[in-house]
Amino acid sequence: MGLFIPDWKSKDLAKALKAVEKADGWKKIVKIVTASPHDEVRKAAIVKEFEQLEKPDDMVFNFGKSNIESLLVEIIKSPLYKKNVRIAAMTHLRARYVNVPLRVEIAKGIDDSDSVITEEFLFGITDKNILEDIAKNARNNKIRKSAHIQSRVPGGWKVQISGDSRYYSKTADNLFVASEVLIRLLYISPQLYYMVDTPDGTLGRDINGFFTEAPIKTKNIMLESPCAATDPVQAQSLTDFGDPIKNLNSVAVLKMSGQYAKLVLLMKCGKCGYEFPVETEAGDMERQCYNCGSINKAHRGAINVKVPNSASAVVV
Ligand SMILES: [Zn+2]
Repeated sequence: MGLFIPDWKSKDLAKALKAVEKADGWKKIVKIVTASPHDEVRKAAIVKEFEQLEKPDDMVFNFGKSNIESLLVEIIKSPLYKKNVRIAAMTHLRARYVNVPLRVEIAKGIDDSDSVITEEFLFGITDKNILEDIAKNARNNKIRKSAHIQSRVPGGWKVQISGDSRYYSKTADNLFVASEVLIRLLYISPQLYYMVDTPDGTLGRDINGFFTEAPIKTKNIMLESPCAATDPVQAQSLTDFGDPIKNLNSVAVLKMSGQYAKLVLLMKCGKCGYEFPVETEAGDMERQCYNCGSINKAHRGAINVKVPNSASAVVV
């Protein structure tokens, strides 16, 4: 009586790969990843599982003690795989391995249009010297820029836990660095709040977009490289960021309960074109560009928000 050998364990690679295609259920997939003798087959099983994730940063599977590190790196590095699959690979690698040299290698080595993958990956690197090295030597310009910004706020985020919410904070020298750090955050889950303190105020980001809990300064702010003062300019635009409806609702709800809340929108500087998050209010306003320091003029209309379970609409 011969032992039954499943097709995915077959020595015939094509046959084994075909079996992976047919495999269903993550338990089967995990079995293949942990027990197949072929790396190609293991990798195909991982990719298959990642393709089914609704969100690329969804649950981290338990692949047991099997070493999938090198397979994940191959997936991340290859632009042949779909972006979602590569992000899932990155999420798993980030969750399971704290191999800094490997992270640095990935950050430095990738040069393709999906550099967003490594940008997110940079967040696991907190050492100033390493970040400066990446800022100088990465192949991809976006990653170099991102590493430079991270090197300005090295170290991990300070975490405060309150109930189910987690508040992450960092300190930056100015609003430019704060907004650059926050705008680069991807995949923010509900009840995660990121805040960057600067001498001119604190900018925050959550799943809905940017927020503030107290006024941020609008004049004579600290700049990266101060420029000569110019006459005020007309801002090019004021746009939503994140989820505008949810953002508006949370501002309205906070206002109704008597708390501080302003609708934060992205203002595009009329002088340099830089987009930066500003607190807005209905009517005329002037805000100083975080990048070049020019005063930007803008106007925003009043927005009526209907708050559920409330008789009155709130004007934001
Ligand atoms: Zn500007």
